[in-house]
Amino acid sequence: MTDPAPSLATPFRSHTCGELRVDDEGSEASLAGWVHRRRDHGQLIFLDVRDRHGITQVVVDRTDQPAAHATASRVRNEFVLGLRGRVARRLPGTENPRLPTGDVELRATHVTVLNEARTPPFYVNDPDAPIDETLRLKYRYLDIRREAMQRRLLLRSRLVQAIREVHHASGFIEVETPTLIKSTPEGARDFIVPSRLQPGTVYALPQSPQQLKQILMVGGIDRYFQIARCYRDEDLRGDRQPEFTQLDLEMSFVDEAAVMDFAEWMVVEVSRATTPERPIQDAPFPRLTYEEAMERFGSDKPDLRYGMELVDLAPALVDDEGTPASGFRVFDEALTGGGRVKAIVARGMGGATRREIDDLTETARRFGAKGLAWAAVEPGSAIRSPIAKFLGDERTAAIAERTGAAEGDLILMVADDADTTSDVLGRLRVELAGRLGVADPDVLAYCWVHRFPMYQWDAEGGRWDATHNPFSDVVPEDEPLLVTKSGDPARPSPEDAAGQARALQYDVVLNGWELGGGSVRIHRRDLLERSFGLQGYSIEQMHERFGAVLEAFEYGAPPHGGIALGIDRWAALLAYQTNIREVMAFPKTQSGADPMLEAPAPPAPEQYAELGLRFVGTPRSTGATIPAASESQPRP
Ligand code: ASP
Repeated sequence: MTDPAPSLATPFRSHTCGELRVDDEGSEASLAGWVHRRRDHGQLIFLDVRDRHGITQVVVDRTDQPAAHATASRVRNEFVLGLRGRVARRLPGTENPRLPTGDVELRATHVTVLNEARTPPFYVNDPDAPIDETLRLKYRYLDIRREAMQRRLLLRSRLVQAIREVHHASGFIEVETPTLIKSTPEGARDFIVPSRLQPGTVYALPQSPQQLKQILMVGGIDRYFQIARCYRDEDLRGDRQPEFTQLDLEMSFVDEAAVMDFAEWMVVEVSRATTPERPIQDAPFPRLTYEEAMERFGSDKPDLRYGMELVDLAPALVDDEGTPASGFRVFDEALTGGGRVKAIVARGMGGATRREIDDLTETARRFGAKGLAWAAVEPGSAIRSPIAKFLGDERTAAIAERTGAAEGDLILMVADDADTTSDVLGRLRVELAGRLGVADPDVLAYCWVHRFPMYQWDAEGGRWDATHNPFSDVVPEDEPLLVTKSGDPARPSPEDAAGQARALQYDVVLNGWELGGGSVRIHRRDLLERSFGLQGYSIEQMHERFGAVLEAFEYGAPPHGGIALGIDRWAALLAYQTNIREVMAFPKTQSGADPMLEAPAPPAPEQYAELGLRFVGTPRSTGATIPAASESQPRP
C-alpha cells in the first residue's frame, strides 16, 4: 500500500469506542455504538457505549446538558446511539483498569438515538450468563455482539488472513472452484441441487474441491490454494457441520516430504501470526507412522502434550522360550491368541478407591474392553493388585518396572486383540489426561501421522476400499504389493498383499484432534489401473465416477500432492474451543437447521413446478423450537 489506510472515523464518529486515552483529554470527540450498560444517578447518567473496538464511558450531566440528559434518561440497553462531547480524565479513584479507555470518559453535549432496540432475549453484556444455544443461534446477531463471539470471529479472520499471506508469499495462486459441480465423494452423502435448465438432473455441492484441484495441477497452476467451502451430508457431531471451510492446497512436482515440509512451515507461520502467545511444543513436528502412533498412543490422532504412552507388557509375561506363562489366564490367552497385553500409568492415582477403579473399569468396558486389570504402587513400593496372586510378586514387580510406575501411581492393563487393546487404552489415556489435568491448555502440540494403510477390506463389496482418497499414491517400496493373489486384477481377495500396502497419506494433528490430511496422488495410469482394480473398479467404471480427472490425466498430469486443513477446527482449537460452532458466524444446529433463517424450508410451489419436482412423503419441520423473545426477557 502506498498511502496509509483511512482511519475508522465516519460521519457518525471521530473515534471508535476503544480508542480514547488520556492524551485525548480536552479534545472534542464523537462516538457511535450500542448501550452496553446504563446507570442513572439522577443528576448524572452514565452510559457505557460499546462497539467492536471497545467500551467507553459517557457521562451526561442534567445541569449542563438538559436535552442530552433527557434523551439519555429514556435509552435502554442495546439502543444505538450517536454521542458528542469533550474527553475528560475520570475523577481519581473512578478509573477502570479493566478497560483500555478506563482512564477517561466522554462528557456528552449531544446524545442522539440512532435506533431503538427491543429488550434482548438474553444478556448481551454479561459474558458469564448461561444461554441456551438454540436461543443464541436464533438471535445470532445479538450473540455476535457479545465480546466472546467478537473475539473468536476476529481470531478466525486473522487466521484466514495469515493463511492467505503465507501462501501468497510462497508462490501459491488462490483459485476459486465452483460449488455447483458433479459429485466429489469424500465418504459422505452429497447435497444436491436440481437443475432448472436441464430437468431431471442435479448438481452436487462439493464434499471437497479434490478433483478440481488435481485438474488445476494438470492445468499447470503449480501451486494452488483456496479457502474452500465444503458440504457433507452426514450426522452432525460437536466438530461437524453440514457445510464447513477447508484450507485446500495442491502442489506439483512434489513428493511426500515436500508437501509435509511446506504444510508444516505454513502451519507454524500461521499459528504464530494468529496466536503469538501460544507456545508451539515441537517444531519440526514429530512425524509418527500410523503404526507407531497406534502402538505408542493407541490413536491415529495422538495428543502429544503429555506422555502416558502405552507399554507392551508381553516381555514381562513370557518365559525364556517366549511362551506366555504369566499365571494369569486372561493375559496368557490373549498373547497365545495373537493378541496384546498393554498398560498405561495414571500418575498419582495409586490411592484410587475401589469405587474409582470400578468406575474406570466401567469406562474401559464402554470403550470396548472385556475388563481392566490394575496394580497400584503403594508407599514403600509394595504393589496392591487383585491379579498379583496369579502373577506372583516377581512378575508383578517386573510389570511395574516395565511401565516405569513409581510410588503412588496406578497401572491399568488391557488384554485383547491388538486393535481393541490399542483403542481402549488410547481412549483411556485421553480420559485420564482430562481427569488428571496433565495437558497444558495453552500449548499447541502439532504432529504428523503418516503412512496409513492404503486399503481396508470391504467384505460386502468383495474389494479393497481406499482408506482415504482413491487417488492416493502408495509408499514406493510397497508398490509391488499392489497385486491380487489370484493374479487377476479384477478378482481381489482378503488375502491379497495389498492389505499390507501403505499410502503416501499424511494427517496433521493438533492436541489430539485431526486438523487435516492429504496425500501424494497417483498420476501414472498403469498404477492407477492397478489401484482401481483392487478397489473393485475397472477404468471404465472409474471413468463414470471420476471421468474428468481421468480424462485430464491423459493430457500430461505432473506428479502432484496436497492437503486440506479444517479451518473451523483450527480456529476453534486456537480459540480454546472444542465445538466448531463457536467460531462460525452462522452455524447449523445438531439437526442441520438454521433457527434464525428458518432453513431448511419447503420450496415455494412455483419452484416445484419450475424444477419438475414433486414431494412424496410427510414434510418434517426442522424441530428447533425457539421460545418467543417476550417469554424469556431478562430485566435490563
Ligand atoms: N480432499 C481431501 C479431504 O477433503 C484432502 C486432500 O487429500 O487434499 O480430506
